[in-house]
Amino acid sequence: MATAGANSLDAFWMPFTNNCGFKEHPRLFARAKDMHYFTPDGRAVLDATAGLWCVNAGHGRTRIVEAIQRQAAELDFAPTFQLGHPLAFALAARLAAIFPPGLDEVFFCNSGSEAVDSALKIALAYQRAIGQGARTRLIGRERGYHGVGFGGISVGGIVGNRRWFGPLLPGVDHLRATHGAGVPFTDGQPAEGAAFADDLERLVGLHGAETVAAVIVEPLAGSTGVLPPPIGYLERLREIATRHGILLIFDEVITAFGRLGAATAAERFAVIPDMITCAKGLTNAAVPMGAVVVKDAIYQAIVEAAAPGIELFHGYTYSGHPLAAAAGLATLDVYKEDGLFERATSMSEYFGQAIHSLRAARHVIDIRNLGLVAGIELEPRPGAAGARAGEIFHRCFDEGLLIRVTGDTIALSPPLIVEKSHVDEMVGKIAEVLARIN
Ligand code: PLP
Repeated sequence: MATAGANSLDAFWMPFTNNCGFKEHPRLFARAKDMHYFTPDGRAVLDATAGLWCVNAGHGRTRIVEAIQRQAAELDFAPTFQLGHPLAFALAARLAAIFPPGLDEVFFCNSGSEAVDSALKIALAYQRAIGQGARTRLIGRERGYHGVGFGGISVGGIVGNRRWFGPLLPGVDHLRATHGAGVPFTDGQPAEGAAFADDLERLVGLHGAETVAAVIVEPLAGSTGVLPPPIGYLERLREIATRHGILLIFDEVITAFGRLGAATAAERFAVIPDMITCAKGLTNAAVPMGAVVVKDAIYQAIVEAAAPGIELFHGYTYSGHPLAAAAGLATLDVYKEDGLFERATSMSEYFGQAIHSLRAARHVIDIRNLGLVAGIELEPRPGAAGARAGEIFHRCFDEGLLIRVTGDTIALSPPLIVEKSHVDEMVGKIAEVLARIN
């Protein structure tokens, strides 16, 4: 039997990682504060990705840290199956208040993936509750990322996440991706491409509306390279879904909590879905938590149709965990008191202009941005998709900058506390690395 030494890196099977490569050249973080990570030898690394699109208020915020510490000492855990504790209710009410009107019921879980699978199950349960039990079909979108549960990878549209895992959920179909709708180097939403939403009509025509339960999309696709929705696209999707009795789910695991300058992308685009999934920025990532925020009518229909007793046979041991709830409440306080959603809006112009200054840099073939998120797409090396961006990721880290790469796109989503000087540093370092790399 293999025995790993205390300092061995062998035993941790790292997620979405080239484990062999990492373990040969490990890059570790020891601590973090505000806009920076620090390596074990004390080197500062500027965080241009809010961890993994999640530390929206910046690292180590005292108010959040203290709330978690207090809560751990006060009530470490309480079941929420047939029991409760006050903070979970308080957080649900606070979320309902900042999410769009009518989305007033909150189902807690522990991650974005769980939020997605929960939302898909709620959609199926709702259709059945209103006598539409034949509506079992779920529609996602090509190039969509909805986490790694079987539901999420089924509606998701990333081949690498799907091809290993068998037939997935039955009865799933996909809208075409909106990528390429606009002209390259568009600042903000592409003007062309609303008609991509008509693909929902095509799928309704193919399968029959009476078989379709829900359609799920990221309002702005993040993980496949930052794809802002074409102007009018989400509105049209909403209209078609409503007309055919199909629930519309926005996966806002990345976009909720200020990334686009509002509490939700739904608010930012003024398109109200039937459910919103969220996670990440919900607790500033300090304690894992996800949630599905649901239209009241969906909750009411499921509760009223149920026999006396448990209405929805779904939930997690840690749904509404006290530490996560405490972190969530403190995080919402920080967002509000520091005006961070508004800050994302006020910084977005400077951020966008700075990112677009990379237009002339070597290898850059497109730049897309909205709010405080940007994708810088690079020409792939012939026969080696992703290799150039992967190398840039490592070089940037060594230069003291944390970026994210997805395929051959550099994705930037800094904490909302980012200053202009940080933006300059990000762009400067990326420009230098691009100039030197083949
Ligand atoms: N949905 C979207 C849109 C995401 O971007 C992500 C993660 O990046 C997820 C779901 C999955 O979240 P998690 O990794 O917390 O399961």
